Amino acid sequence: MLLPQRIDGAFRTCFHGASRVSIPSPQARQYYHRCFSSDYIPGPHDASFDLITATWTIIASCPIQWQFQHIKGHQDDDPTRELDHWAILNIAMDLRAKAAWEKFHQQGCPTQARIYGEPWPLVIGPQKVCQDLRQQVIDHIHGTTARQWWARRNHFPESHLSGIDWDACGCALKSSTRGQCHWVVKHNSRFCAVGHNMARRHQWPQSNCPRCNSDNETNTHVLLCPEMTATTTWLTAIQRLEQWMLSQKTEPGICSVICNNLLAWRSHTEPARTTSYFCGLAGALQAQTTIGWKALLAGLIAIEWSGVQDAYYQWVGNRHSGRRWAAALIKKLWDVSWDVWEHRNGFIHTTSTNTIASQAITRALRQEHALGIHSLPHQDQHLFRITLETLLQSKFEVQQAWLSNVKAARARSQRRDHATYRRERQFLRNWLQGPS
Ligand SMILES: [Zn+2]
Repeated sequence: MLLPQRIDGAFRTCFHGASRVSIPSPQARQYYHRCFSSDYIPGPHDASFDLITATWTIIASCPIQWQFQHIKGHQDDDPTRELDHWAILNIAMDLRAKAAWEKFHQQGCPTQARIYGEPWPLVIGPQKVCQDLRQQVIDHIHGTTARQWWARRNHFPESHLSGIDWDACGCALKSSTRGQCHWVVKHNSRFCAVGHNMARRHQWPQSNCPRCNSDNETNTHVLLCPEMTATTTWLTAIQRLEQWMLSQKTEPGICSVICNNLLAWRSHTEPARTTSYFCGLAGALQAQTTIGWKALLAGLIAIEWSGVQDAYYQWVGNRHSGRRWAAALIKKLWDVSWDVWEHRNGFIHTTSTNTIASQAITRALRQEHALGIHSLPHQDQHLFRITLETLLQSKFEVQQAWLSNVKAARARSQRRDHATYRRERQFLRNWLQGPS
C-alpha cells in the first residue's frame, strides 16, 4: 500500500508485532476514527477520502484484530525528556517519512498516486481530487464562468481574475449565516430591491432614490447616495471598519490605504497618500486599484493583502495568519454595505409612515375648511382666519393643533345647541302634532 505524502506527518503508523498501531497526532486520531470506527462510513465529503476509503477497505478485509495506542508526537522537541519505546519508534517513523518525502521530490515523482483499495479516482487537470468532491466538481464546471461574470459586473479585466483572493472569499461565505450569504450575493449581483429593480418589476411607480430622490436608484447609488444621513452612516461604517482592523493588529499602512481609498471612491476625490512603505503594500494597493474599490466592498480583495498582513504578523511576532485575517476582513467589508443598506431601508419605512400620516391630515384639513365656520359660535370663528394654503404649508404639529382646536370648537357648539334649544324643539314638535 502506498501512503500518500500529502498527509505529511498526520498519519505515521508504527507497526509493532502484528497487532498494535500507534496514532501519534490529533489529526491522525480523527483519521483513525474515520478509518476504523465501525459506525463511520467514509465518503467524498471527507478530507483525503481516497486514503480513508482505502484504509477502511483494507482494515475491513484484514483477519487481524487491531488495537490502538495514542502516542504524543514530537516528543524529541524536548531534549531533556525521557523517551519510551513507542516515542522512539514514532520518531524513527517520522524521520523515515520525511526522508521518503525528500526523495520523491528530488526524483520528481508524482505526489498524487493510485492507492490500493481506493475508489475510482477523479483527476481535474494535473490534480487528483482528494477532498470536498462535490464543491470541486461544481467549481470546475461553473467556476470560470462565474468568475468571468464577476469581472464583467465589476468592470475589471479578466486577466486580473487570478489576482483575487477567492479562497478568502469562500472562507468568509462559509463562516456566514445562510441569510447573510443570500444578501451578499443578491446585493452584489444587483438583484436587491433597489429603485431600479422595483420599477422594472412594476412594484414601484418610479425608480427614484427614496433618500435623495435622484433618478434610477441602483445598488451602487445605495452606497454613493449624497443624502446627508446616508453620508453619516457611511462614515460611521468606515470608522467601525478601521477600528476592527486596528483591533486585529492590522499593518497600519493597510488600515489607512483601505479606509482612505474607500472614502475617496465615495466622494470621487483623490485618496490621501500613505506614509507606510511596508513590504508588499504598494503592490497590494496597485492590484486593488485595478480590481476596483467597489469590488473590494463586494469581497473581491486582491490576493496580495493577506501576504502583506501575514508578513506583518511574522514581523511583530504575532501567531495569527494573514489568510484568516483576509476572510474576516471580507466579512467586515460586507458589514459596511449592510449598514448603508439598512439605513436606506429604515429611511423608506420612516418616510412611508410619515407620508400616510401626512395624507390623512391633509384630507381632514380640506374637509374642515369645506365645512367652514358653519355652526361655529362667533368666539371660535377666528380659527378660520388662516387660509387653507397656509395651513397645508405649515408644519405637521401646527396642522394637528389646528385640527384639534376646530374639532373641539364644533363639539362644544353641538353640546351648546342641544342644551339651548331643547324647550323650543319640544314646543315646535307639540305644535306640529296639533291638539290630541
Ligand atoms: Zn440617493
